[in-house]
Amino acid sequence: MAKVGLREFTSLARVLADGRLLRYGKGARGATAAFETAFAAQMGCAHVLTVNSGTSALIAALAAAGIGPGDEVLVPAYTWVSTAIAPLAVGAVPVLVDIDESLTIDPAAIEARITPWTRAIMPVHMLNLPCDMAAVMDIARRHGLVVVEDACQAIGVTYRGRPVGTIGDLGAMSFNHHKNMTAGEGGAVLTDDERLFVRAQMYHDPGNFIRGLKSSEEPVFSAMNLRVSELTGAMLNAQLPRLAPLMKRLRRRHGLMARALEGAPGCRISPHNDADAAVGLTVIFDRAEDARAFGDIAGVERLLDTDRHVFANWEAVLSKRAHHPRMNPYAWANREIEHRVEDHARTLDILGRTCRVALGAQYPLPVMAYRARVLRRALARRAPGYHEAVA
Ligand SMILES: *Cc1c(COP(=O)(O)O)cnc(C)c1O
Repeated sequence: MAKVGLREFTSLARVLADGRLLRYGKGARGATAAFETAFAAQMGCAHVLTVNSGTSALIAALAAAGIGPGDEVLVPAYTWVSTAIAPLAVGAVPVLVDIDESLTIDPAAIEARITPWTRAIMPVHMLNLPCDMAAVMDIARRHGLVVVEDACQAIGVTYRGRPVGTIGDLGAMSFNHHKNMTAGEGGAVLTDDERLFVRAQMYHDPGNFIRGLKSSEEPVFSAMNLRVSELTGAMLNAQLPRLAPLMKRLRRRHGLMARALEGAPGCRISPHNDADAAVGLTVIFDRAEDARAFGDIAGVERLLDTDRHVFANWEAVLSKRAHHPRMNPYAWANREIEHRVEDHARTLDILGRTCRVALGAQYPLPVMAYRARVLRRALARRAPGYHEAVA
């Protein structure tokens, strides 16, 4: 979770004193425009569009890529429900794919879910853990699929030296209250592709035809209002300098906690797709009951118990209901799409045996060193043979 302090107060005060809270009509001097330029530079991508949520960013990215009715979009079975809802919002359908022990989409499971109607893959970097992007991009290129990275939970995380969200064709980020950067609510679309950027911009404002958001090659189309105000821009300008220090604190705490938990009995550190740069830590147990017990400790959480992120609880998606029966993308699909819980037993098994260990970026290192010892002792106590040995 991001920190908010004096910097945000002064940044917001400047915008409030100026009095014009709409981003348009200010040119490059606006707070939101300034944020987009600075964020693009920091992420090393060509274009950033700020929108009002991470969900909006995912939807705008799919709309920009021209995804729509009849299309299938591959989504992992472990993510926030927005990743599965975004394809529905543009008229396409989500097709669920199992995760592997890295807690991200399993490249080996992707290919089995590809049909002649698959158009896109949405790899999700959960819990600051990067996906195996080399494998995902390879599959996407071979099958001609668009890649929309959901980096909502991983702003600032890198994969092989590149920030996640800038590796696929488009990336989506969230600035809601729980994320690595926050404006309370907010999101961003990232891309290197000029045409995708123009289309995302157009989709984010119904007033696209009066704001110069069209290009000569790209005729205007009807759109949504996903805009942000200058207050969001002001918050994000204040948040941006906090991102690199946050990643540094997470990396140091990861090293400390991972060393303490390495080789602990009954569990192992989950495989990570870029272990040298890790800023997120999870451990996987052989037995679900050991993970459940470990998850009861403060600062630890078994992933199956974070029920909102588990596909089996996405009632709206599993029931395939829409706000109006004739606006239901499942009726426009080229085949019957089934979301069966039993098809993803593997995802549920992994989530039932995996615990996230909070890295406590806000706490001093000695506190985290103490916590690491507490966790290590708790694992030792549950190990078979421990009670006999101390008796
Ligand atoms: C937070 C989140 C979103 C959506 O973000 P909002 O800003 O809340 O709309 C999407 N995907 C994932 C994985 C998230 O964690």
